[in-house]
Amino acid sequence: MPLVEMTDVRKTFPAATRGGQDVEAIRGVDLTVEAGEIVGVVGYSGAGKSTLVRLINALETTTSGSVRIGGREITTLKERELREVRLGIGMIFQQFNLFRSRTVWGNIAYPLEVAGVAKDERNRRISDLLHFVGLADKAHSHVEQLSGGQKQRVGIARALATNPSLLLADESTSALDPETTQEVLALLRRVNRELGITIIVITHEMDVVRSLAQRVVVMEAGRIVEEGPVLQVLSDP
Ligand code: ADP
Ligand code: ADP
Repeated sequence: MPLVEMTDVRKTFPAATRGGQDVEAIRGVDLTVEAGEIVGVVGYSGAGKSTLVRLINALETTTSGSVRIGGREITTLKERELREVRLGIGMIFQQFNLFRSRTVWGNIAYPLEVAGVAKDERNRRISDLLHFVGLADKAHSHVEQLSGGQKQRVGIARALATNPSLLLADESTSALDPETTQEVLALLRRVNRELGITIIVITHEMDVVRSLAQRVVVMEAGRIVEEGPVLQVLSDP
């Protein structure tokens, strides 16, 4: 069974002003992602990449079509059940979205606190994650004291805290220099290989897709216009 299965998904945002045009952000997308894959989603700004990802973790509701996560149709779920689905999906962002007032430890603790994980279990989990991302010595540092690459490693640890089966990475290396980008990509490869987590990586950086993904989906104006193995779809620069 595929981990993610989208069938004829559409998402229309109503016009912001009366008489304005509705925005058809996603216009009939079929997408299947198998467990264990790393799939890249590429396309110009406005192509619908972020909306696609927000439909997968149910931060947006679909206008029509079906979204199945692990075989479960999520478009008809109630808020309480959606929270459960979202616990199985981690997300990392371009601007990291960390709490500045919290330490590294406190940032990773956050999703575990929200999920109601008991303190002992929480502490064990955070300690394991800090070692996994190579930040054991930074547990008590404040986020502002960290480099961009370290911040994204905290973001990754936080995204993994609830043991998700899927990680969504939205432009997660776009704010980083080339060297730091390589470090973060190496960590994401380990997340996939060692933890068996499926990754969907949205980016406008073709090099990121080339070095990380096995399969790529090209979006244009709300549709998938091309899809296949990276080496086949993306010719050399
Ligand atoms: P990408 O991530 O590829 O840059 P987006 O998914 O952000 O593309 O946007 C696709 C289209 O949907 C754009 O035209 C964008 O302006 C529009 N859009 C995205 N989110 C909203 C929203 N919340 N309200 C109205 N329009 C939106
Ligand atoms: P805050 O988020 O309130 O600023 P911290 O981020 O330092 O505080 O820590 C959040 C929670 O995790 C607190 O309850 C703290 O006691 C606990 N904690 C922090 N570091 C450790 C650690 N190394 N081992 C066990 N518990 C810790």
